[in-house]
Amino acid sequence: MTDRLERLLRAELRAVKAYHVQASSPQTVKLDAMENPYELPKDLRASWVQELSDISLNRYPDASADELRNQLKQVLELPSHFELILGNGSDELIQLLCMALIAAPKRKSGSPVVLAPEPGFAMYRLLALAAGLDYVGVPLLPDSFQLDMPAMLQAIKQHDPEIIFLAYPNNPTGNVFNLEDIELLAKQSTGLLIIDEAYHPFAQSSAIDVLCGYEHVLLLRTLSKLGLAGIRLGVLSGAAAWLEQLNKLRLPYNINILTQATAQFACRNYEVFLQQSMQIREQRQELYLALEKIEGVTPYTSQANFILFRVDSDSADSVFNNLLQQHVLIKNLSHSHPLLRGCLRVTVGSPDENKIFLSALHRALS
Ligand SMILES: *Cc1c(COP(=O)(O)O)cnc(C)c1O
Repeated sequence: MTDRLERLLRAELRAVKAYHVQASSPQTVKLDAMENPYELPKDLRASWVQELSDISLNRYPDASADELRNQLKQVLELPSHFELILGNGSDELIQLLCMALIAAPKRKSGSPVVLAPEPGFAMYRLLALAAGLDYVGVPLLPDSFQLDMPAMLQAIKQHDPEIIFLAYPNNPTGNVFNLEDIELLAKQSTGLLIIDEAYHPFAQSSAIDVLCGYEHVLLLRTLSKLGLAGIRLGVLSGAAAWLEQLNKLRLPYNINILTQATAQFACRNYEVFLQQSMQIREQRQELYLALEKIEGVTPYTSQANFILFRVDSDSADSVFNNLLQQHVLIKNLSHSHPLLRGCLRVTVGSPDENKIFLSALHRALS
C-alpha cells in the first residue's frame, strides 16, 4: 500500500498539508472564515424557495450559464470588454489557472512557477503544488504588509513566473497593495497576473480600474464573502482570448442548477447584499476602534470583512484557546508565517457577535 502510494503520488503532493477547516458546534460564535453574518431577509427567503421549487432537478444545468454570466457582468460592474467564466468557488478557478499552465512550453527544465506575496491566501501555494507547479513566496514588508518591490522584482527576474497571484485586499492582512506597485508588476511580468478581489464588497477600490488595459491581467471575484459562501460561485474575468482557452478546462456542468438559480436570484436582489456589506463595513470600523482601546492589542486597518490583530507573541495561542473555550472561534495565524508572530484574525460579525467576541477577548487577556 505505502509502496504503491509513494510510487504513484509525487513527493510534493504527499508533503502538502490538506486545507484545514476547524470544526465548530452550533453554539460557537463563528468568526474564523469571513462569512457574512446575515441571513437572507425572511420575505426574500420565501420567494427564493418558491423559485427553487420550479427547478427541474432531472435536467443538467445550463452548461455555459449564459443568463447568469450576463447578470453578473452587470452587478459586478466589470469592464465592458471583459469576458467571464464561472467556477465552483474562486478556489476552482485558481485550480483551473494552475492546470492551464502545467505544461507551459517555455521552460527547458523545471516546472512552471506560481509566485505570490506572503503572508497570503493559502490556496495559491496548495493548488500550485498539487498541480505539479513550483511555488515561490515573497515576503511582504513587516507591519505595513505592502509589497516589497525590490524583492518582488528580483523574484520576477530570477523565476520569470507563469502566474503571479495578488489578493486585493490581501488575506490575511486586510490591506490593499499600492496600485502603482501592482501596475509595475504587470509591466515587468511575462506571465499572467491574477488580481483576486474576493473582498471587493468591503473595499473602497478595485485594482481593475488601473489594470483593465493589460490583456495578461485577469480578475477573480466571488460571491462567498458577500453572503453566499454556501452556493460556491466564483468569477474569473478578463480578455476574451484568455478566457476562451481557459474555458476548455472548465468541467461543462461545474455550476449546478441550484447555484445558478440562487445566484440569479441574488443578482436580481443585489442591493440587499450591498446593504449588508455596508453594515459590515460600519461594524468593521467599530470593532477596529474597540480593539485599538484594548491594552496589549494592536489591530491593523482593514479593507476587508476581517481584522488582523497582534497580541504578545507568547500569548497568541493561549488567547486563541481561551476564546475557543468561551465558544468564540477566530483564526490563529501566529505560526503561519514569521511576519505574523502573535497575530490572530477575526471576521467582522453582527453587532451581537462582535460584542461577545470583545468581552471574551477582554477575559482572555486578563
Ligand atoms: C476566501 C477567499 C477566496 C475563496 O473564495 P471561494 O470563492 O469561496 O472559493 C479566494 N481568494 C481569497 C483571497 C480569499 O480570501
